Order: sequence, then C-alpha cells, then structure tokens
Amino acid sequence: MSNPLLQVVDLQRLSAETKRTGIKLLIDNTFATPVITKPLHLGADMVIHSVTKYLSGHSDVTAGAVVAAKAEDMERSKQIMRVYGLNLSPFESWLAARGLKTLQVRMKQHCFNALAVAEFLSRHPKVKQVWYPGLPQHPQHKLSKAQGCGMFGGMLSFRLEDDLETVNSFMKALQHIPFAPSLAGVSSSISHPLRTSHRSLNPEQQQKLGITLGVIRLSVGIEETVELLADLAQALEKMK
Ligand SMILES: *Cc1c(COP(=O)(O)O)cnc(C)c1O
Repeated sequence: MSNPLLQVVDLQRLSAETKRTGIKLLIDNTFATPVITKPLHLGADMVIHSVTKYLSGHSDVTAGAVVAAKAEDMERSKQIMRVYGLNLSPFESWLAARGLKTLQVRMKQHCFNALAVAEFLSRHPKVKQVWYPGLPQHPQHKLSKAQGCGMFGGMLSFRLEDDLETVNSFMKALQHIPFAPSLAGVSSSISHPLRTSHRSLNPEQQQKLGITLGVIRLSVGIEETVELLADLAQALEKMK
C-alpha cells in the first residue's frame, strides 16, 4: 500500500514480471504488515518493514526489519547491518518484541476503525474524496481484498477543499487526533503530506501524484470507534 494514497500493487503479477526480467523484487510492507499481506509468499525476494510503525505499534521505538527469501540476500543484509552499525539496542529490541505480541489484535481494531472512518468520511458533504482500499469505489478494492485476506489496514487519506485555511482550521479543531510526523501507533494521528512527507517533491510531481493542499493522511488508531468518529465530526463542523 502506497503512502499517502493507498495504491495497492498486484504482487503476484509484479513478481512474475520481475522474475522474467531478472530484477529483485523488494516490498515495503509497512502499511500492510504481515497480518494483512505476506509478500514473500507472493513472490517477493525481500521485504522491509518500518518496525517503528505497526510492528512495535506504540510510537516508542525506532527500528526496521529486513526479511529475505534467499539465504544469500539475508547474509548480505546482515553484513551491511554489521558494517554500518545498524543493530538495535537491547531496550528497543525488547519494546519492539513486546509490541509484536499484540500485532494481530491491534490490526483487527485498526482495520475495523479505519473502515468505519472511511465510510463516514465518504458520506460527509465537506469531504471531496477518500482513499481507502476497503471502500468498494477504491480502484484496487477487489485485488486488495484478495491479496489482504479481507483486511485493508489502518491508513487512509482524504481530501478537503484545497485551501490552506480550511486544512488548518480542521486540524486545529481536532481534539484527540494530534498532528504527527509518524504513523501507525495505537493512538490516531494526522499528517499533511504536502507540507511534510512529500514537501521535497516539486509542484509538478505533487500534482501528478494527486497530492494537493487538501489531502490529509489519517493513521487510524485503536480507540473506541464512536469517539473517533465524534472527534472527526465536530472538527468538520467547526472547519472554515
Ligand atoms: C515510516 C516509514 C518508513 C521509514 O521508517 P523509519 O522507521 O521511520 O525509519 C519507511 N516506509 C514506510 C512506508 C514508512 O511509513
């Protein structure tokens, strides 16, 4: 799943193509997590995860993981890790391993809440567009359903009017969903791709990707669903 517009790639088709052309296929599976998609089973050579996100899950670890189908790729990764000193401290390893124990149950609630929020936003008159693979109108909905065991993840994006005052007033009106540079923790958080993760792209690239001023990315947490919806509803109400 791509950031921030949640495009879903057909991994089996892609891996057939990369095998045919002799290219290694590396998948960043951070948004989906292994609960939703297991790219090695679908033909990927290697998978990378930001453990900082769902795998540890509590926004208190900075870590990453690499997995490989072939022993030689794993050996090379270990060598790079050793040479660059990328090994994790004992405390962070412990936090990450502890977070991992609840990954499965957290993902279920992330998915449940995200679908509820996506449905709510897609019906709201002040929301122009919603990107969430779980919505039937998402261009890769069917593929996403088949590839992800019927789960669609906790990340979604939506577009308000492409106007700075509108975006700022919405974000300021939220009471329980903070603006944050990271994502995928147990608490919901919001980001503004144009001014954060995608600010280094030039205006043509941003336009081409569809990342306009009004696009907001929401990392849906595991809070009570009604409380989440209530905060979004009141912020949309107060928004200019
Ligand atoms: C955050 C993120 C990364 C980078 O991970 P860090 O743990 O912050 O270094 C890579 N890929 C995706 C999809 C991410 O969300």
